Amino acid sequence: MSKVKVVNLVKKFDKTVAVDGISFDVRDGEFIILLGPSGCGKTTTLRCIAGLETPDEGEIYIDDRLVNDLPPKDRDIAMVFQSYALYPHMTVYGNLAFPLKMRKLPKDEIDKKVREVAKLLRIEELLDRKPRQLSGGQQQRVALGRALVRTPKVFLMDEPLSNLDAKLRVYMRAELKKLQRDLKITTIYVTHDQAEAMAMADRIAVMNKGKILQYSEPHHVYEKPANLFVAGFIGSPPMNFIKASIVEKDSRIILDAGFFQYELERELGEIVKREASGSEVVIGFRPEHMILSKERGANSVFQADVYVIEPMGSNIIVDLKAGEYLLKAVTSPAIEIPPPGQKVWVGFPLEKLHVFDAKTEKTLI
Ligand code: ATP
Repeated sequence: MSKVKVVNLVKKFDKTVAVDGISFDVRDGEFIILLGPSGCGKTTTLRCIAGLETPDEGEIYIDDRLVNDLPPKDRDIAMVFQSYALYPHMTVYGNLAFPLKMRKLPKDEIDKKVREVAKLLRIEELLDRKPRQLSGGQQQRVALGRALVRTPKVFLMDEPLSNLDAKLRVYMRAELKKLQRDLKITTIYVTHDQAEAMAMADRIAVMNKGKILQYSEPHHVYEKPANLFVAGFIGSPPMNFIKASIVEKDSRIILDAGFFQYELERELGEIVKREASGSEVVIGFRPEHMILSKERGANSVFQADVYVIEPMGSNIIVDLKAGEYLLKAVTSPAIEIPPPGQKVWVGFPLEKLHVFDAKTEKTLI
């Protein structure tokens, strides 16, 4: 078991700043996920930790030891990539045994380890097969096994599930999480899939443009996003955003979105007024927190046109047109929604409302 610490890591490729001064720590046995859109610097960060890239600035520590100058093979790290990179001419047994053979372990010890890992990953009956005789999920398990077999200090995984079909991916992510919990190997995992990150991670580092915007537990990133980017990146369908201005009327603080006005409670209004860089803000509310009703209710804030209804089985996605916006709401099939073209009242509980500074994109409330 081990901990990892990254301090002010910078990595440039010519003029491209791939990683722009990021710092984070990973606790002993923790499973953390670097999450962000394509090109935000996730893979480069992972490759710096593995020793496959040389940082331009910053320090990387594994168990309090500075490893910047250690070659990859001496860092005691195992890496699993998107492509499984199994040796096609070797059997599953041969693939699993390979890292141990390289370390010149005695034959009987290699055999014991290979069988242990095969049992753990439930691939014992596949040991004599070649990779091409395996399904995607089985190949993925072999790739994991090959990384696990020498019990590394740290596990680095770069989108290891992205080649699997949707169903298998959901199955394997639970398997992988269970395995990590059981083995307690410190793990840094890269993905652009927010659902995967939410489901698996102890903590998520949300990245954009080479920076970490928030590093916290999944529920915290979802409930208290640090800024507009994180709020929009976490959650599916994504959070709805509406531009508004802060208006003061008779010492009341109102968010004016044009097609509706929303009066803030005194205390919250004071915070928004004090923290905002100007008068322009962005109101955010999640599809799953919206309350739709045919008649105006206590929570109703504005009226919208029903645009499309998407039945999803366990819930319904309702696409709404309000002002210049196309919004998405998620509701229960038990709620009666007027057909497309008709109007519906939309509301959201105050405690689920988010307000961001339009200019700095920081969360105000
Ligand atoms: P993805 O999810 O698409 O793999 P990522 O978040 O892992 O993206 P990186 O692969 O770390 O992002 O890339 C970050 C930036 O650095 C990108 O702009 C990329 O084009 C650039 N980059 C990465 N590797 C190199 C390289 N070897 N040479 C030049 N530019 C690179």
